[in-house]
Amino acid sequence: MTEHPRFDVPITPPERVTGWAGDRATPGGGPDLPVFYPASGQQISVLVEDDADAVDVAVTTARRAFDTGPWPGLSTAERTAVLERCGQVIRDHADELARLECAATGLLLRELRERHMVRAAYNFRFFADYISQRAGERYDQTPGYLTTVVREPVGVAALIAPWNAPVALATMKIAAALSFGNTCVLKPSEQTPLALARLVELLQDVLPEGVLNLVNGRGPVTGAALVAHPGVDLVSFTGGTETGRAIMSTAGQRLVPCTMELGGKSANVIFANADLDRALDGALLGIFSNNGQQCLAGSRILVERSIFDDFVGRFIDRAQQIRVGDPTLAETELGPLASHPHMMRVLGFVDTARADGGALLTGGVRRDDLGEGYFVAPTAVTVPGNDARTAQDEIFGPFATFLPFDTVEDAATIANDTQFGLVSYVWSDHLPTVMTMTERLRSGVVWVNTPMMRELRAPFGGYKNSGVGREGGAACEAFYTEEKTVTLPK
Ligand code: NAD
Repeated sequence: MTEHPRFDVPITPPERVTGWAGDRATPGGGPDLPVFYPASGQQISVLVEDDADAVDVAVTTARRAFDTGPWPGLSTAERTAVLERCGQVIRDHADELARLECAATGLLLRELRERHMVRAAYNFRFFADYISQRAGERYDQTPGYLTTVVREPVGVAALIAPWNAPVALATMKIAAALSFGNTCVLKPSEQTPLALARLVELLQDVLPEGVLNLVNGRGPVTGAALVAHPGVDLVSFTGGTETGRAIMSTAGQRLVPCTMELGGKSANVIFANADLDRALDGALLGIFSNNGQQCLAGSRILVERSIFDDFVGRFIDRAQQIRVGDPTLAETELGPLASHPHMMRVLGFVDTARADGGALLTGGVRRDDLGEGYFVAPTAVTVPGNDARTAQDEIFGPFATFLPFDTVEDAATIANDTQFGLVSYVWSDHLPTVMTMTERLRSGVVWVNTPMMRELRAPFGGYKNSGVGREGGAACEAFYTEEKTVTLPK
């Protein structure tokens, strides 16, 4: 029998994970759901699903905290101080939170400590700074009258998060909702609840009672009950496009505003006149970081035909050197996918590419030598045209699809030929090429000669089926506040 490496779980998680209604556990009511360690496939914990009654308890708690609690009426200085303490809690518990996150997601522990938890703490600092610098609006065009615009919190925000970067993504929503005086109910992905459950528990010591609540469970059960609850005033969602559609149609019945951060199939466009070493680093980082599971991965790599074979060859060489394995080791570069069904779905795209006339360039297999974990070798395919399904569908794994192009026009047309429009990348040192591409690309973000540089003050979100609304400083302020115009005689 072949000996496989042993992947020890990075922390002993709680045996059972519950939600929080204020500082009390939610009543659950649904079935127990297993939580797995993706590096070994072993069950490590049990998630107690919250049914519609339990969701009601959490929303009612948030509602009471909004209607009668101190939070919406705190001064900016008071609220800022609390937000700063939230960030400090994350810094103080960064190692524990990173280990819990690693245990449920299989994301690299090093990345979780150095990037995700740092970013999570910064999300609170960012909104604390933002609200303390905010100026008001005042108009006096009509003689004898003064008009001011007041921004007020909206109410109870439902925050629904995905599994690919749970703490980093959910804290953006929590910090934004709280900073503008709302209370909230968070629903993490049922696959990856561990770190967020612990964080919400820790933050109960910092936040007033009932301001931050947590429900757990499957999307169509717990998530759907949350979105449909009449006590919810806002929905902020990050996840898949089809789920976003379902949520918006429910929320639309009650005219509840939504932001939708949805899927992507980003074009990574590499021109022959680019700094090709940097473009290669950027392409590898885009598609293989976060274990290949990110909405902003440059998963369609469009390369100018004159350099196509050479660039693809260099990409394959580098992809084959990527160290796949134990997510707790500092030297590992690619960990497991988040779940067994997801791994099978990603691997299924190899046959899809072949059926569409494509060719496998590297990878395309499960790394069985690593045991029962959900490891997939770094994978790349070429396909004959952009209508191939691996060029159109979001695969959400370490799986790059290469296509050649001939001209700037050609590149822009192929890049835009998708239902998605979250981010695009352009690599070129020729200014007119860059200008034409940034004008033509139909996506919410365009990164030029740089991989994944997120500026929190700037809006982030997608065109087309990649989203509705934006996240970021002013965008969050617009979403999480109501504007009230007050006019009075001078
Ligand atoms: P998903 O849509 O399956 O689930 C996201 C969340 O929604 C989970 O908490 C899930 O339980 C919940 N949910 C599912 N059905 C629901 C329903 N009917 N009502 C209410 N809630 C429901 O997405 P996922 O698989 O967890 O995440 C991957 C997707 O997220 C990818 O498409 C990826 O591109 C996208 N994503 C987008 C961004 C962005 O910023 N645009 C960031 C990260 C991930």
